[in-house]
Amino acid sequence: MKNIYSVLKEHFGYFSFRPGQEGIIRAILSGRDAAAIMPTGAGKSLCYQIPALAFDGITIVISPLISLMQDQVRTLIASGVRAAYINSSLTPGQTALALRNATKGMYKIIYAAPERLDSPSFLSFAMNSDISLVAVDEAHCISQWGQDFRPAYLRIAEFITKLRKRPVVTAFTATATEKVKQDIISKTGLVSPYLFKGGFDRENLYFSVEQPFDRMDRAKNYILSHKNDSGILYCLTRKQTEDAVRRLSAEGISIGCYHAGMSDEARKKAQDDFIYDRIKVIAATSAFGMGIDKPDVRYVIHMNMPARMEDYYQQAGRAGRDGMEADCILLFSGRDVGLNRYMIEKEPEDDPLTPEQRKEYNRARLACLDSMVYYSTSKHTCLRRRILSYFGQNAPESCHNCSICRKKPIELPEVFPMLLQYDESLFEALKNGCRRMAIFAGVPSYTIAGEKVLKEMAARKPETITQLRQVEGFGEEKIRRWGADFIAIIKKYNK
Ligand code: ADP
Ligand code: MG
Repeated sequence: MKNIYSVLKEHFGYFSFRPGQEGIIRAILSGRDAAAIMPTGAGKSLCYQIPALAFDGITIVISPLISLMQDQVRTLIASGVRAAYINSSLTPGQTALALRNATKGMYKIIYAAPERLDSPSFLSFAMNSDISLVAVDEAHCISQWGQDFRPAYLRIAEFITKLRKRPVVTAFTATATEKVKQDIISKTGLVSPYLFKGGFDRENLYFSVEQPFDRMDRAKNYILSHKNDSGILYCLTRKQTEDAVRRLSAEGISIGCYHAGMSDEARKKAQDDFIYDRIKVIAATSAFGMGIDKPDVRYVIHMNMPARMEDYYQQAGRAGRDGMEADCILLFSGRDVGLNRYMIEKEPEDDPLTPEQRKEYNRARLACLDSMVYYSTSKHTCLRRRILSYFGQNAPESCHNCSICRKKPIELPEVFPMLLQYDESLFEALKNGCRRMAIFAGVPSYTIAGEKVLKEMAARKPETITQLRQVEGFGEEKIRRWGADFIAIIKKYNK
């Protein structure tokens, strides 16, 4: 078995584990099942990818979305890990080839959609291979209580019983409710699992609530002053989304549109354009969701107040997955309250609930709305504190990183985390160079190096491979493939 620190450094280029990761990895490697609830961006993937590399056999990762699988497999391959996915985006010929390769042991990690688990060809591969680990990602999809319930997840437990020997089974999610957690443990069939629940704070995110006179105008000004950044603009309706695209593209902003009324093809194109940095901003309804693992989203602006804190925190949390500073701005208007209330109280056609159940359900939704209004109208209380207390977590009086706390005269902690001194124009040169390498390799730019890595390069200015190894997040395979190109850019710049 390989040493986990050398796997962390060699493949992923990281020097240390984030909170929770090491405990989970060690439990898995000792042969114990595990379940982890960690917020978006906490680094759940590494918790099963490192054991996958350390174990002798193959790891199967069950994932709900094609875009998530593609993203992870691209990133793994760029890190020198033999990985593949099997889902409905492959032709039957491609699937057969991938399964033949898998049976020969060519991949360490195989991502599969849950629907695959009872297909005869997939089963035949799995039953005839040495499967060390099954990792269920986005595990809340197994629960009817979660909002992304996916019935095919219920087949996972049975699939596992069909394997030659029982692998270690693990489940990962960002959804924290007790009901969902219990469902995950029982329905995935975890046996006395190691449990880890991470804190829900995302220190690098700046939270702000504003009540501008003209919300679109405010969004426009913000976006224009952050022209080089990727961002998401969440709108309430399809029409509002299209209006935003019209108005903002007239200002020269490179923006795309995403909502449920578009064809699958048009939505995929918009999502790819955003991931591959062909557009900077995407205006979207809440339909734009789980598939977005883009790490360098620098801001998420909500044009309206959502009805639930869970939704708001999940959507806003798509900013700053790379751990670098990012802004979450909620543009609030008193009108949002009435509108949300109206949507909750509107009588649905063919209501599947009895009038009593409906009343109960609406009462719960109105209570959620109240919490969201409480957040949006905070005058003196730290916004992060309101969010965390909503999720049942204690927080200090002041976070120094929300619109309320920044208005107060603050005493900055001695070392303010996340602040790297780097050379702006070298950073731009590296970013452009990285984009060219990415186009050539046919992958999104962040797959090679995210903004955090590029900023560190622009700070350290490595001119040798040994110096480049000091840059966190740039592992051996990346050094082998792209190291010389980055060094060339730095040397040229330093001349
Ligand atoms: P999650 O699935 O929990 O939302 P990811 O697994 O997608 O989060 O990880 C988020 C980001 O954090 C990724 O860019 C990942 O490479 C990075 N990351 C994970 N673990 C570490 C670590 N130990 N050190 C530095 N960065 C890490
Ligand atoms: Mg994840």
